[in-house]
Amino acid sequence: MRAQLFITLFLLAFGCSGSGKFDHAQIKEMRDELSRVSCSNGRRMNETLDLFGSKGLAVEISEYQEVSNVVAEISGKTQETLIVGAHYDKTDAGCGVIDNWTGVVMLSHLAKELRNRNTEKSYTFVAFGGEERDLQGSKAMAEAIANGAREKPCAMINLDSFGFEKTWALRSISDPSMLDLAADVERGRGGSFSIRNYRGASSDSKSFRRIGVPSITFSGLGDDWRDYIHGEEDVISNIDFDAVAENYDFLREFVLHLDTVPCRSLVGGESD
Ligand SMILES: [Zn+2]
Repeated sequence: MRAQLFITLFLLAFGCSGSGKFDHAQIKEMRDELSRVSCSNGRRMNETLDLFGSKGLAVEISEYQEVSNVVAEISGKTQETLIVGAHYDKTDAGCGVIDNWTGVVMLSHLAKELRNRNTEKSYTFVAFGGEERDLQGSKAMAEAIANGAREKPCAMINLDSFGFEKTWALRSISDPSMLDLAADVERGRGGSFSIRNYRGASSDSKSFRRIGVPSITFSGLGDDWRDYIHGEEDVISNIDFDAVAENYDFLREFVLHLDTVPCRSLVGGESD
């Protein structure tokens, strides 16, 4: 009886295929959300609305000429704002589960968790449309900031494609001040943070760097990423859920750390 109780407690604490310290119910929920997404680009915006709505988050659609973004605002103790984003659109080829429903699902979980915490900063969670068409959604939002229609944020964190390897950042579209913070966070977790560069790789943080907002793009793809995205292999069966658990755990820690960092200590718009 006692041994059984111990085993049960042990499984509760450390069970679930090797990713011991993670919340397995949450990872299972992510798996379900990834399995449900359709392969139709035309339905992705409504699916994003449903995903955020299912977590009780109030969402708005920001409509621009060519593209729509899905936005959830969460207010914290101060007006200092962080933008956390992930694109919901996909290329015509493949189902876009890895690129980038993984990012959208994690975005919705982060928004839900942060809403339930008494954060220092306020948050704009945004699912961008049109990333695969030359970053349309993020460009439109960055333009609105540049022309004063939107408040300038403290920093921008972009999530693009996870579930293969430990979280890393793409150097060419991230600011050094943000890369340093990511390295600090990973050091605090006992690991070393990897910064990569892939020729031809881009994503939505680029639009915010252009207007001087300190920005970073995180991913969890592998070196063979071209084999898995923008085609038939962009499917749930290629996703490693232990990697998803690590990716999400890192992202949550990074955002919670950034929440405590004064905006004035971040520098943006540095050259590549
Ligand atoms: Zn992408």
